[in-house]
Amino acid sequence: MIHENGKIVDIAIIGAGPGGMASAIEAKLAGIENIIVIDKAPHHNDMIHKFYKKGKRVDKDWMGIKFEFTGNVSFEECSKEEYIEQMEVKLQAAGVLDKFEYNHDIIRVTKNEEGLFEMIFGHDDIAEGIETIRARNVILSVGRMGKPNRPKYKFPKEIKPMLNFNLSKVQNGERVMIVGGGDTAGEYAYGLVELEDMPDCVVTLNYRKAEITRMNPINTEMCSKYLDNGKLINKMGVDVESLEQSESGKIQVNFTDGTSAEYDRAVYALGGTTPKDLLVNSGVKTGEWDVPVYDENTFETNVEGLYTIGDVVTDQGSIALAFNHASDAVKSIASKLK
Ligand SMILES: Cc1cc2nc3c(=O)[nH]c(=O)nc-3n(C[C@H](O)[C@H](O)[C@H](O)COP(=O)(O)OP(=O)(O)OC[C@H]3O[C@@H](n4cnc5c(N)ncnc54)[C@H](O)[C@@H]3O)c2cc1C
Repeated sequence: MIHENGKIVDIAIIGAGPGGMASAIEAKLAGIENIIVIDKAPHHNDMIHKFYKKGKRVDKDWMGIKFEFTGNVSFEECSKEEYIEQMEVKLQAAGVLDKFEYNHDIIRVTKNEEGLFEMIFGHDDIAEGIETIRARNVILSVGRMGKPNRPKYKFPKEIKPMLNFNLSKVQNGERVMIVGGGDTAGEYAYGLVELEDMPDCVVTLNYRKAEITRMNPINTEMCSKYLDNGKLINKMGVDVESLEQSESGKIQVNFTDGTSAEYDRAVYALGGTTPKDLLVNSGVKTGEWDVPVYDENTFETNVEGLYTIGDVVTDQGSIALAFNHASDAVKSIASKLK
């Protein structure tokens, strides 16, 4: 779909699982037609496609908890395949299927000076115009199954604890290799060089390309500065071939150019967003167990106009619960849009 540049939608729904698709239907029924639904998968209900066994019965009362549908969207208990078909029919009947945009990973949403949400995409091949869409409200319904991308080579069991996806385990004095060429890798790399309580870390940036091409201008400038003055060790333009445990019990990295080096820790920033990353990067406060802080009646977070529903806010989520959350969130948005 080609989007008009700078289009402003009333609701951008991120995630096309049960919560996201019910939000789209509820919005339509509330008279809100100007919406977009964005999912990183190639179709709606991807989690169900991927994680439910073939022929699995889809229960309404999941995990022994009895649920009643409180909104306009419901389903009849059936098999996985029939459930997906039911949802397709419901979306078609509501006339919202053309609002769905697939294969787009959102890494954060930010509010601009005009109070409109901008969506930041995790990759470069963005459909024309979509990146310029602004939203008055956002519903995040991204579930809990998101995870960071991993490299293709194996993580040997003995060194797994030293192979991480964020900086939380880094200790002062460690030799750390950051792997990746995007903004997260850049921010990890120069962030670690600058961290006051880690003055003795020795940080290497490894990226398969020799040049920084995917970082924003600030991150490019910061990384280039530290690569130039040697505070960040440059291991760019070469890929990792394999990992093994070194004789001293550390990580031995074997590169594709035949060289190898030893590190205490490797931190991978290869894209792929966890729900927590997405929430925190979007300014949402999270409490215990990473559950976002939100209003239990409306599902609005501390960021005005930013709602989060479904599995993200529940530890025992279900389809019916996600449907009900969608109804409450859309009601709240509809009352504000009046
Ligand atoms: C094996 C299994 C069996 C289950 N069986 C049942 C059952 O029988 N009955 C029942 O009620 N519940 C069941 N559940 C639970 C139920 O599936 C979930 O509670 C429900 O799917 C939650 O819906 P959601 O919309 O919150 O999240 P999800 O279904 O996880 O959907 C999230 C969507 O967001 C997309 N997404 C994620 N991150 C991004 C991003 N950064 N950018 C763009 N898109 C993104 C994903 O691709 C996905 O499509 C089961 C769960 C599992 C794992």
